[in-house]
Amino acid sequence: MKEGEIVNLLHSQDQFLKSGAKSSVEDRISILKKFKACIKAHEQDIIEAVYKDFQKPEFEVLTTELFVAYKEINLFIKKLKNWSRPKSVSSAWLNFPSSDKIYHVPWGKILVIAPWNYPFQLAITPVIGALACGNSVVLKPSEHAPYTADVLEKIISEVFEAEQAKVIQGAVETAKLLLEQKWDYVFFTGSVPVGRIVSQQIAKHMTPHTLELGGKNPCIVDASANLDVAAKRICWGKFLNAGQTCIAPDYLLIDSKIKAKFQDKLISTLKEFYADGTYNDYARLIHDSHFDRLTNLLKNQSIIFGGETDSETNFLSPTLVESPDFSSPLMEEEIFGPILPLYSYSSFAELDTTITSFDKPLSLYVFSKSKDFVRRVNENFDFGGGVINDTIVHFVNDKLPFGGVGASGLGNYHGRASFETFTRKKSIVNRKTWLDIPIKYPPYTRVDAFKSFLNLFR
Ligand code: NAD
Repeated sequence: MKEGEIVNLLHSQDQFLKSGAKSSVEDRISILKKFKACIKAHEQDIIEAVYKDFQKPEFEVLTTELFVAYKEINLFIKKLKNWSRPKSVSSAWLNFPSSDKIYHVPWGKILVIAPWNYPFQLAITPVIGALACGNSVVLKPSEHAPYTADVLEKIISEVFEAEQAKVIQGAVETAKLLLEQKWDYVFFTGSVPVGRIVSQQIAKHMTPHTLELGGKNPCIVDASANLDVAAKRICWGKFLNAGQTCIAPDYLLIDSKIKAKFQDKLISTLKEFYADGTYNDYARLIHDSHFDRLTNLLKNQSIIFGGETDSETNFLSPTLVESPDFSSPLMEEEIFGPILPLYSYSSFAELDTTITSFDKPLSLYVFSKSKDFVRRVNENFDFGGGVINDTIVHFVNDKLPFGGVGASGLGNYHGRASFETFTRKKSIVNRKTWLDIPIKYPPYTRVDAFKSFLNLFR
């Protein structure tokens, strides 16, 4: 799309928002129902598109793309009316008599920029929240999942006029062009370096924004943990989506007392998961350069298990690596693929040194039966969110705000948190006129009286 067309589109979105058309809560609920029906009608297209993009298995599309989207839309249909009610608060007695309320109002025009790794869900979930809250939306899906981007465009254009919601496809240049425009809010999901660029680019308009980014997520396995369950839950959370998950464990820190035993359990779990050797229940890497990047990261590493590749299909099997050097490229950046480094630790101080040598992660996982150990981990480290005795499942509870901290993100969303993100609070004091105490007006004749009053606060 050319810049002139984008400017015209945004002008039409401004006009639409100003007109107040389809802005009542009832209008919004009815359009969400239409939106949901349209997603349902295109379910098979979504499954096929995500498969074409990176051979993501149907089961994973149903669980991690469609289920999450339906849950979000159902929640907004159920709760929007209640959440949208203005909230009365008690008045400041200095303003007596008045009644005070907080209104939840839409920001206006929202730009959503999405990544490729959960190409449907990570695009549609913020769009649901933004539209439910009465905003207009422009969605730029990732250019690296083009089949899913086409289905997203089809669904949104079937339900919405462009003045309310529009998909604009394109790569970096398109994203830059979009970011040059003046938005009322920007919602970005993607990598840390691009998040930084986005933040800088929108700073000139001081646009409020959310950044859903990534990082190196530690996963700690304490000696007291249920090792059989831990091995299954770690392998599942790590190798789902072929490890291309922002909240997947990035590296394991295993108590040295159980390191060898736990390593064996990880290997036997992986053999069990993919026993038939077809890897039909396992996604492929998104594109050639991601395949090249990940296979290069494996060079000069000690591979304990896996490491099989097929460049024709961008296949990299689940791979375990023994204690890579912390200064190796594998540990310098977020892995974001099916490679899991295993380290052992012998003391809490060692854990502390390792974890705090990286930026604050998006997630942290700890497997342990010891309440003290879990509490210590929780109190010691700062991270976006986490799970005790499992991985990645905090994502599915829409009552938990989802987001990072520091370099792993800014702001959060999901469920009620999405409502808070996609509206802003407008505070209104409604003063009554039947009483008007004159003390505040010039000429100031009651300085002493106010000084006595101030004594109450001194
Ligand atoms: P990316 O940052 O490369 O791209 C994300 C989006 O930004 C794409 O739509 C892309 O076209 C656009 N983009 C790329 N370069 C840009 C630029 N210079 N200016 C403006 N826009 C630009 O990320 P990706 O490779 O699609 O996704 C993987 C990353 O996303 C990982 O780091 C992962 O951890 C992170 N991620 C975070 C979450 C989360 O919820 N926190 C979820 C999924 C992925």
